[in-house]
Amino acid sequence: MRLRPGLRVLWRRKGESQVGVDPRCAVVLENLTPGEQNVLDYLRHDPTEADLVRVGRTSGVPVARVRELVTLLERSGVLDPAPRTRPPGSAESPDEAYWSRLLPDGDGAGLMARRASATVAVVGLGQVGMRIATHLAEAGIGTILLEDDSAVRERDVGPYHPRDVGGRRRERSEAQLRSLFPQLRTDAPTGTRPDVVVAVSAGVADPVKLLPLLREDVVHLPVVAGDVDVAVGPLVVPGRSPCTRCLDLHRTDADPAWPALATQLRASPSPPVSSHLAQLGSAVAANQVLAQVDGRELVADGTSIEVGGLSPLPLVRPWTVHPACGCSGVGQEDIARPQPAPSRPGAAGASSTEREPSTEERELAAIGTS
Ligand SMILES: [Zn+2]
Repeated sequence: MRLRPGLRVLWRRKGESQVGVDPRCAVVLENLTPGEQNVLDYLRHDPTEADLVRVGRTSGVPVARVRELVTLLERSGVLDPAPRTRPPGSAESPDEAYWSRLLPDGDGAGLMARRASATVAVVGLGQVGMRIATHLAEAGIGTILLEDDSAVRERDVGPYHPRDVGGRRRERSEAQLRSLFPQLRTDAPTGTRPDVVVAVSAGVADPVKLLPLLREDVVHLPVVAGDVDVAVGPLVVPGRSPCTRCLDLHRTDADPAWPALATQLRASPSPPVSSHLAQLGSAVAANQVLAQVDGRELVADGTSIEVGGLSPLPLVRPWTVHPACGCSGVGQEDIARPQPAPSRPGAAGASSTEREPSTEERELAAIGTS
């Protein structure tokens, strides 16, 4: 038997031992004899029950009491419910150990296998996008599709190497990630549908660009690097949660000039993002993607998380489906073409649907449909 990975047996005082530290996974055992505390201490060696009985015998603890202690530990959830024998030379990754400690079934290996078989696309590979891709690769996502045909700039150095400046972001990011993570795949057979698409943009998200994903029912996470914050989400599960157009419509309700501002933001060059903000925002974004891939409960369901330099704490902003959007509770046909907000017939969001799709939109459409 073994304790869940990372849990330690700690001596509190005479007669009292504790397994684990955090109250959410720790347990305290009281009224123990010194011999019983010895038996518990021996758990650090991943003993068999026979080993524990032997330690009990030399410490004056009867076999029945040893078994009682083991049952107590089992019931309190600190023993690993899914111990596996590993092939020699294959170490448990920190991620697997972490989730083996926390998941009710202790199946960190199963969670890592889900990540390894998952496909995530990251569209937009500046400071923030490249860092998100790196986090995901490090966390064990098996296939990451990288989309961005623009060039690596001086200010992208950090997640990119200085020698990458001037090269295509897609090529440079693929080369770098594959050298760091040899198991990673950066392409997928035609027809592969990403489990999640991360769409990184500067200033404001463009609902028109994300429309193909909504139409094709592809889960996607908008990430927007703004003047002050990096805003992550809400994760769009088509038909179930507010989409980027819902957010646009809410913003238009609050400020009728928003469509005009948004159009200008989409057309203007993006401001640089400070490196610590890019790190913070990309970690939050990767955490949302991983929760979705793992099938864990999303802490931020239907909400965006905004991290920035002005507030020490993230701003968590709940969003609702906008009644004028029509992206939830209706057939997918109804969301095939965005309509202008009823109160703003001349809104920029509506007229922008009439232009030719850009290369990036076509890439998104390809990700969404292929
Ligand atoms: Zn919507």
